[in-house]
Order: sequence, then C-alpha cells, then structure tokens
Amino acid sequence: MNNPGMKCTRCRGPANHRFPQHNVRFCDACLEVFIQRQVEKAIKKFNMLAPGQKVVAAISGGKDSLALWQLLIDLGYDALGLHLTLDLGPFSQKSLEASQAMAQRLGRELVVKSLPQLTGQNLEDIVRANRREFCSVCGTLKRHFLNKLCLELGADTLATGHHLDDEAGRLLGNLVRGHQEYLDQQWPVLEGLKSDEGTGLARKVKPLCRLAGSEIKSYAKSKDLPAAYGKCPRSKGATLPFYQEAVDILEERMPGTKRELYLGFLRRKGGPPPPPRPGGACERCGAPTYLDLCAACRLLLRAEEWVQEKKAPAGPGADQGAAKGHEI
Ligand SMILES: [Zn+2]
Ligand SMILES: [Zn+2]
Repeated sequence: MNNPGMKCTRCRGPANHRFPQHNVRFCDACLEVFIQRQVEKAIKKFNMLAPGQKVVAAISGGKDSLALWQLLIDLGYDALGLHLTLDLGPFSQKSLEASQAMAQRLGRELVVKSLPQLTGQNLEDIVRANRREFCSVCGTLKRHFLNKLCLELGADTLATGHHLDDEAGRLLGNLVRGHQEYLDQQWPVLEGLKSDEGTGLARKVKPLCRLAGSEIKSYAKSKDLPAAYGKCPRSKGATLPFYQEAVDILEERMPGTKRELYLGFLRRKGGPPPPPRPGGACERCGAPTYLDLCAACRLLLRAEEWVQEKKAPAGPGADQGAAKGHEI
C-alpha cells in the first residue's frame, strides 16, 4: 500500500499513509490535522455541538470510539466517557480494559455500567424469549440505556463513533430493503426531546461520519490508541458487515464511491428529519414512546414472562396463565 519515498501532500516530508479516495498521502502529523479537520467540518456543518459543550461519548473500547473520545477532547469539548459492558467473557473484559486505559491516558472520567445489571436479566434469556437476533436485542437495549444514562449524567447530547463505513453500509441496507422510515431518519444528528420527568431523548451526534474506517484505523495506529481489536463473539447475525463489504468492493474499483454514496445522499436530502413529536411515556420506565411500553421494556417484559412460564408447572392451569398475559 505504501511506497517507500512517498511524499506527504501537505508538508512534502516522508509520508506513510495513503488515501486514494482523496488522492492524498500524509505523514503522521499531517494525518492528525486532516482527521481533526474532517471532524470539525462535520460538527460545524451539521450543528452537532457548541464550542466546549459537555457531551457523553459512548466508549466501546474499539478504535472508533477511542478515536472519537481523543478527537472530542483535542477539539476542546467536555467529553465524558460512558462504557456499557455486556459481561460476555474475554471480549467484554478486553473492551473494558481498553476503555479504562484510554480514560487514564486522557485523564478523563469513564462511567462503567453493566448491561445485565441494568436490565436485571440474563441477555441470553432476553434474546431467547423474544426470538430475535442477539445483535438486534443488544442494540435496542444499549441505545435505551446509553440514552437514559447520558441524561442522568447531566448531558443532553450523546456522541457515538459511527463512521462513514457504518453509515454508507446502513444506507445501502436501507435502500435494498426499501426501509423508507429508516432512510427518512438517517442523518448525522438526531434531535432530542425534553420531558418534565427528565426521561426524554438525548440528541445523538456522529462526529466521525465524514471519516472512513481505514482513515480512523490509520489515525488510531499513529496515535497508538489502546484500542481493543477483534469482533464481538455474538455479532454473527449482523447483516451490516455484508453491506459494508459491498460498498468496499465498489470503493476499491472506484475510489470515492463510499463518500459519494453517503455524503451525496445527505446533500440531496438537504436537511435533518423533523424533530421527534412529543408522545406518551413508557408505563414502566417513563421513556418517550408512542406505545404503552418503550422498545426496551417490551423486550424485558417478554423475557420476564418467558422466565415465569418456564418456571410454571405444565398443565391446563399453565395455559390459562399464559393466555392472560397476552394483550387483546
Ligand atoms: Zn506531512
Ligand atoms: Zn420503558
């Protein structure tokens, strides 16, 4: 990938990073300037954050979230780290340790919460009871608790490390499946919703949305970020990687396709989706929802019922009990 004797496009010194999508080559120092400018540009263009604003950064321990945290701090934001551990063995442990190492390096606070403790239930039980893919259940629960904890930590904005590959892959998936409602909602900033009980929706921002995964990888390596590498052992059912691979094939043949796909989509769209309409509150947790229960509580309630059904002795009485649990 790198030719010896390659020169940096910015400073003409020896370069060790090459990005055909921009037709540029960088040394470590100029790469950092480039990455920071891309993030600044995204923050400004999409009105993500006010200068110095307090923001909660969702930190998984992977290179993307650690790069996000580093960049937010370097750009002067008051970024607090929030790590949700899944308690799924060595991968979770490695991810937690990477997040803690980054907090120490930045001298910033990292809030750590356990998803199984927050839900009060075993994740595998919740997955089995709801007959859904692990990733989809985990994603719904993580979004729910990241939002809740962000507001509890006194911030109204949650930043995540989603980058161009994530967004371009998601866009392709939504187009292929004709998920118009998701296409309508796809934007690097989603406005929040304030509620009197303090259980509203935090604003969601994606400051890395202009950066490709390969660019962040180069940045993480050159900054020697203590990232945990590897894949979640339960990510088998996820379809996003297939769409990302498809976009990568196009990118390989036609550099710049990935950016054009996503940034062109945003450009043609013209503006953000309308802010969420105030609706009702979840009967269990108070989170905003248009239904009786929010998506996370529906999963949790189903899991509680399932555990009860498993415990209940089989027989005619058990059938009646189960029937009562259903909504009419
Ligand atoms: Zn340079
Ligand atoms: Zn709820």
